[in-house]
Amino acid sequence: MLPDLDVIDHLLAPIVPNAKIIHDRLSIEIARGCSRGCRFCQAGMTYRPVRERTPEVIMQLAQAGIANSGFEELALLSLSTGDYSCIEQVLPQLMDRFAADCVSVSMPSMRVGTLSPAIMDQIKRVRKTGFTLAPEAGSDRLRRVINKGITEDDLLATCRHAFALGWKVMKFYFMIGLPTETTDDIQAIIDLVRKVKKEGDRDGRGRRQLNVSIGTFVPKPHTPFQWERQMSMTESRTVINHLREWLPKGCTLKWHDPRMSYLEGVMARGDRRFAALIRLAWENGARLDGWSDHFDLAIWQQAAEKLGLDLDDYLRERSEDEILPWQHLHSGVHQRYLQAERQRGFAESYTPDCRYHDCQGCGLCDFEVVRPVVIDRDRFTAGPEDAAPPSPPPPTTARRDRPAHDEEHCRYLVTYSRRGRICYLGHLEILRLLFRTQGRAGIATNFTQGFNPTPKVSFGPALPVGTESVAEFLIMDLPAPLGDPAAVLAQLNDKLPPGLIVTAITPQQGGPPADIESTYTMTLPRPLTDDERLQLQAFANCAAYQVEKLRKGKQQTVDIRPLVVALQQSGRNSVELGLLSLSGRPGIKPVEALQAILGLDPATALGLTILKTGWRPAENV
Ligand code: SF4
Repeated sequence: MLPDLDVIDHLLAPIVPNAKIIHDRLSIEIARGCSRGCRFCQAGMTYRPVRERTPEVIMQLAQAGIANSGFEELALLSLSTGDYSCIEQVLPQLMDRFAADCVSVSMPSMRVGTLSPAIMDQIKRVRKTGFTLAPEAGSDRLRRVINKGITEDDLLATCRHAFALGWKVMKFYFMIGLPTETTDDIQAIIDLVRKVKKEGDRDGRGRRQLNVSIGTFVPKPHTPFQWERQMSMTESRTVINHLREWLPKGCTLKWHDPRMSYLEGVMARGDRRFAALIRLAWENGARLDGWSDHFDLAIWQQAAEKLGLDLDDYLRERSEDEILPWQHLHSGVHQRYLQAERQRGFAESYTPDCRYHDCQGCGLCDFEVVRPVVIDRDRFTAGPEDAAPPSPPPPTTARRDRPAHDEEHCRYLVTYSRRGRICYLGHLEILRLLFRTQGRAGIATNFTQGFNPTPKVSFGPALPVGTESVAEFLIMDLPAPLGDPAAVLAQLNDKLPPGLIVTAITPQQGGPPADIESTYTMTLPRPLTDDERLQLQAFANCAAYQVEKLRKGKQQTVDIRPLVVALQQSGRNSVELGLLSLSGRPGIKPVEALQAILGLDPATALGLTILKTGWRPAENV
């Protein structure tokens, strides 16, 4: 149990992936724990108490993390980010701080009751996608059972405000099969969605999209609902089909596959016999089960049958006297508290959040070392600069100063090489990597306009994946001249990953040429045959050479003869190729050209080593 988030070592220089990953951004945990007390939520029980990080440390972590990574997005993480006591102060300050660098600030986890108009205004500054709300249950009654603490009026007011701010897509998450649920509660989901739709249609605001997601409730260990039964697959399907039929037209319904919820349910409350089950299912071919196209429940059912396990039995209601398979694990929250909370749920009784109200006696805090840590928001109203500095202050290695004249355009031609394994990154991945390196090197840049601004950079023709090059270039568009290009070159090389090396930075007039001639050395895994030498000659003497190629699933025919401006054997195994890339006209990749000209089989073509050795503007094309 970590009593204070501020005293741990902070990660100041995060790992920056070269290939695109999920959650490709800087994440800062602004608080740990949530004591809202939703009775279905395992994280809300096992990560108690709430411990908030101080705003000063958050600001410093954000500055150091962005400067050291070059990420273009910063996410504020916690179980419920809107509950962070100083969010209305921290969010605008972060956004203002990073607006000039076009770094967006996002909050992935928001709760309806925390979405004040002030916060929504801030979110609107960066969120261009849908607005997500999780009422969890359709009726106020069922939300009282689960201690959600929000009413239909809260939800409708939030929707009204979101629509008024211009959001066009609203997403809702509901669970079905919650304890005490009746058909009235299912009907309440339909009624609520209808009311939201009506809000969206008001005042002729134009088309609004409502997306409704349904998941089957899975009772989780260490929660007040750990003893409850889980709905069967048949029951889930019946409710989902009912919703499909009755939800209003124009709203999109998505649902979690009931077969997957079933397996999640038996896994969640399984016992030690599940070790053998998991192994046997794996041996029988269960892989990547989280993806519906790979998921096969029958594999699990057959494995369970072989081991004599009744999977349905794991979904039954448990007696409070029963020894539970996880009872030897202690989260710190007392069993008697969970039992009391379960009864309070059945009585539809509200348990307040202990961070703002009295201790509710869950048993976790000793109030000497462990206690809720909530920041006094008045301390931060003057801004982080005026607050007492935390210790130790995290250092930053780079700054991204924004020069005053951002309408200026100072262009530089940056030449670089791309050798070794880095050549297996795609063009877009290389772009993002170079943008982030520019940020890490502290080079102030002009940005493109629009919803997703990126550094203003022009590139030459995209290099095919797997091709190495000693002659790549890009043109940076900066708001001010570089004081010392040689120092910037050294700075970039210091920040680039292995395989990418900047070789020159020179002033540039205008953008890249529209038409470019590139030269390649292409090396076969074996010497050229006599027949292939004849093919080279035949190609040189022909007037046209039609090649079939596949682009975006479509077959195209291209005459490559005018595109190949040079072709000759340059060694026992190698060929020099000069190839044109013409603006707005179909081109061909070097490997496709050589494969077609020499008639290489696919295996030999795959074994080609290709090095781009030079480029120049193409003239008189
Ligand atoms: S012991 Fe009290 S203050 Fe601490 S987390 Fe539990 S309810 Fe909250």
